[in-house]
Amino acid sequence: MAEASEEVYSALHRQFKGELLRPGDAGYEEARVIWNGMHIRMPGLIARCVDISDIQNAVRAGAASGILTAVRCGGHSLAGFGTCEGGLVIDLSGMRQVTVDAGARRARIAGGCLLGSVDAATQKAGLVFPSGVVSHTGAAGLILGGGTGWLTRRFGLSCDNVEAFTLVTADSSVVRASATENQDLFWALRGGGGNFGVVTEFEVKLHPLTAVVLAEGLSPEAGIRPLLECWRDFMAEAPLDLKWNINLRLAPHTSNVPMELRGRPVASSSVIWTGDPEAGRRHLRRALSLCNPESVSSRVLPFTDLQTMADSDFPHGRRYYTKSGYFADLDGRTIRRLVEAVTSIPSPETMIELAYLGGAAAQVAAHETAFGDRSAPFVLTLLANWAEAREDAAHISWVRGLFRELRPAMKPGVYINFMSGDEQERVPEAYHERWDRMVAVKSHYDPENFFRLNQNVRPRKPAARNS
Ligand SMILES: Cc1cc2nc3c(=O)[nH]c(=O)nc-3n(C[C@H](O)[C@H](O)[C@H](O)COP(=O)(O)OP(=O)(O)OC[C@H]3O[C@@H](n4cnc5c(N)ncnc54)[C@H](O)[C@@H]3O)c2cc1C
Repeated sequence: MAEASEEVYSALHRQFKGELLRPGDAGYEEARVIWNGMHIRMPGLIARCVDISDIQNAVRAGAASGILTAVRCGGHSLAGFGTCEGGLVIDLSGMRQVTVDAGARRARIAGGCLLGSVDAATQKAGLVFPSGVVSHTGAAGLILGGGTGWLTRRFGLSCDNVEAFTLVTADSSVVRASATENQDLFWALRGGGGNFGVVTEFEVKLHPLTAVVLAEGLSPEAGIRPLLECWRDFMAEAPLDLKWNINLRLAPHTSNVPMELRGRPVASSSVIWTGDPEAGRRHLRRALSLCNPESVSSRVLPFTDLQTMADSDFPHGRRYYTKSGYFADLDGRTIRRLVEAVTSIPSPETMIELAYLGGAAAQVAAHETAFGDRSAPFVLTLLANWAEAREDAAHISWVRGLFRELRPAMKPGVYINFMSGDEQERVPEAYHERWDRMVAVKSHYDPENFFRLNQNVRPRKPAARNS
């Protein structure tokens, strides 16, 4: 591998405009780190690109040498796909331009942007791009996997709001995919992750929005079961303007948490309303009616505050492990098991996250994009979050054990961006009946599987020659 990275370096260093970082170089240590502290790797070469020609050169040199190659935008892949041991990292952090056309409500987002850079640029024009809930997440990885967040019910998944992609494919050519150009690729890129090439630019639709109402509250342990039953029934009829997420966790020891709940199992509700605040009042009141009244708060929040409010809950460098799945319904047994599980949660930062899709995301037909299941509205994510390597086994086994117990009641399917790196066998499950088409597109654009550090769609083996 060391030879391969030297070969790539030799091929690149005369023409590369960005930085080339090898072990020992100034800046290398900082550049090799990704968000999830579980994945500490020493790449042989980090190629920090500044434009399309840098990416083309890196892909060409990487493919010629056969070196293991990672593509990185924000480095937030839970599975650690943004880096690799001894190989090449094509790092897009030098490409974070966002260009907004306010009149047309459109933007061009470069392939290395973080969500925060997108929000900062679009909010200047009073517009939003629907994305995720933590501003230091990379936009490219999030959009390519699908992209869910506070605005999913109102405006759809992130990938539903992409009108065109420009990418460098495995043969180093620049390809555009849209509703009228390379339609199969356009279909596959909306949910297919990083399987098809390095996306250099996303052309996206924007929507007018500058503030939301945020209402929050905590339900004590004895109130978790009725809260989940109420949430299940309420969300089936909820307006598109309302998004209600629930985290089951141990309540933090902070001043805004009633004393008797601190450190105790709770259901933490966060409800946002994107419409007229007056019209939302009765829905928010009903949603929080089962919370401890002292813990309930409601305020109008600027959109950028909403997008950054969870940033400090997920710091870089901690250790994270996750498993996720869908439910068509939340039956009584599943709810009982979830309530019990909060009492065995292994750390105060670990959470059982529950979200409800539906809304605009469910209005896009299943065959229109590669994205997994849009019909199963309940999304469950077990997210363990801890600091010390010596606690790995306890946290990972808690997640795996609980997931195993809940799995029989789940619908097949998984959102690829919430998967860990040890779930390759679930990738076909993520795409269901779309799997054969995914394999066909992958086999066409990346027959050698150069882009394989992702929730990987393996290409078909080339047919053996007869002669
Ligand atoms: C703190 C945190 C919060 C999150 N919140 C949400 C959320 O609200 N909603 C949601 O849907 N997901 C969320 N996620 C999951 C997130 O969508 C995925 O982890 C996503 O892969 C992160 O993208 P990234 O660019 O930061 O990751 P990276 O590690 O840089 O890349 C992830 C994958 O995408 C590929 N990739 C990256 N850039 C490109 C590119 N330009 N072209 C082609 N392939 C590329 C990589 O090769 C890799 O396979 C969150 C993750 C974290 C860690």
